[in-house]
Amino acid sequence: LTRDMFVRNGIDLSPNAKTVLERRYLKKDIDGRIQETPAQMFHRVARHIAKAEKNYDENADIRKVTETFYNLMTDFRFLPNSPTLMNAGRRLGQLAACFVLPVEDSMEGIFSSLKNAAVIHKSGGGTGFSFSRLRPKNSMVGTTGGIASGPISFMKIFNTATEQVKQGGTRRGANMAILRVDHPDIMEFIHCKTANTELNNFNISVGITEAFMEAVQSDAEYDLIDPRDRRPVARLNARQVYADLVEQAWKNGDPGIVFLDRINRDNPTPELGEIESTNPCGEQPLLPMEACNLGSINLAKFVTGSADAARIDYESLKETVWTAVRFLDNTIDMSRYPLAEIDRMVKGNRKIGLGIMGFADLLFQLQIPYSSERALEVAEEVMGFIQAESHKASFELAKQRGTFPNREKSCFGGDSQKAYRNATTTTIAPTGTLSIISNCSSGIEPLFALSFVRTVMDNDKLMEVNPYFEAVARQQGFYSEALMEDIAGAGTIAHMDGIPEDIKNVFVTAHDISPEWHLRMQAAFQNHTDNAVSKTVNLARDATVEDVRKIYDLAWQLGCKGVTIYRDGSKENQVLSFSSAK
Ligand code: ADP
Repeated sequence: LTRDMFVRNGIDLSPNAKTVLERRYLKKDIDGRIQETPAQMFHRVARHIAKAEKNYDENADIRKVTETFYNLMTDFRFLPNSPTLMNAGRRLGQLAACFVLPVEDSMEGIFSSLKNAAVIHKSGGGTGFSFSRLRPKNSMVGTTGGIASGPISFMKIFNTATEQVKQGGTRRGANMAILRVDHPDIMEFIHCKTANTELNNFNISVGITEAFMEAVQSDAEYDLIDPRDRRPVARLNARQVYADLVEQAWKNGDPGIVFLDRINRDNPTPELGEIESTNPCGEQPLLPMEACNLGSINLAKFVTGSADAARIDYESLKETVWTAVRFLDNTIDMSRYPLAEIDRMVKGNRKIGLGIMGFADLLFQLQIPYSSERALEVAEEVMGFIQAESHKASFELAKQRGTFPNREKSCFGGDSQKAYRNATTTTIAPTGTLSIISNCSSGIEPLFALSFVRTVMDNDKLMEVNPYFEAVARQQGFYSEALMEDIAGAGTIAHMDGIPEDIKNVFVTAHDISPEWHLRMQAAFQNHTDNAVSKTVNLARDATVEDVRKIYDLAWQLGCKGVTIYRDGSKENQVLSFSSAK
């Protein structure tokens, strides 16, 4: 089998996918000329990831595994996160999308974290930080007798550094900043993005505790705690703080919230430390110095049967889950991490984050409206299946390769049924770029619009019509370019003439779906996900502050690990390099 035999040219790439690959993923020479075809890129990735097999079996058939991985990706059944596509088999060799870095309460600590973040951004990875350990603003600085400038001032330095790194040929960096709700500077944090131009390279989230939520319920005061000695230094009214953060989120989407105690309840290795932060988009809680490789299965590719009797092909999905787990476990070994300490942490826990994309496209094919009980059932069923199969695959892999080294110290330690290769297996990522490459709907999100103009990689504008909608429109005879343009303008077909009712029911888009349904869907997926779920709850421009409060309350009640809202038109710039038409 020669390389050319399976680097065939028959990869089905959409024009947008081609554009994205050419801009940022394909290897280029120093003059910026493209050095590889998409097929060669997928081969580069498949071969590099397959090489890990030799670590466990010196007779492993690397070619066969390469071919399996290659087919998995080029059929668009599964793609690894962007850094793997960009860097596998190349000089940089850093393959993970998500990192969390500690920020210690010292100049050395802060600036070494800043340096590490710059190195990670250069490779296309995103970084999350908790700034909660930093002493509050106006505290004394022991060595100089001066006054500390506090967490928010340091966040600004991280933001500026991110701006300047500009990603050495990959992408502009993304950061998450978390501050605990009991940090003395919490009010400044809540308001730190009031000016739309401030801290643009950060998503911010308030780290909410159970104690705080209880104080909100009972309209009580709660303690603000100095992180250096854990002593209470002041008290605030919990409802007041909650009201402020809700109002701020209503104004411009930030801050989101993360439920720290819940995240730590599911921390598989509490002995190794407490989880303080997630990656930039919130789906991957990690210990300080931990990183994680994500990968996403495109559910749109797992529908079988005639249009009237369409169903999920679970046999084929199972096979893909097993191959994907193997792929991601291999990726851990093949990645070059920017720090020895990160390498040690990652290889100790071997967390992987297998998730999905194309969920809305799956529902279109099954003719199920996103905002329906039936859709929630599909979500629970399909993610429950992926979760169970990924655990089984990880268990089998451990028989050949050993469990993750920290397993004895983990909450699975005493349970022989849970002798896993990986401390976690599932995470639902936003798949901002992966979904463009795979030409499917992103993550578990409903479509933003059935046809729209997409801004890709900073400034290219491209018109897109959802392929399932287009097929139905053509088949039923109501397709026209003019109609697609009208739809792109209106964003929804709910009030359009000339489109059958049953089609309108199934082809709903983000703004046709009430915030409650967005959240119920997030919760349905969270029920079957080891890590967390990336989801944006879309609100209409005229949504009220009270609407936002209800969403935050409901996220709490439904057992989500966090929530992010976006009210139409409330933000000028987004952190990520992908943004849907507004
Ligand atoms: P992709 O589709 O490119 O693989 P996702 O949209 O699924 O990426 O995002 C997954 C994670 O990848 C994010 O939570 C973040 O950790 C990281 N990430 C995404 N975009 C960027 C970016 N522009 N810079 C740095 N990291 C990013």
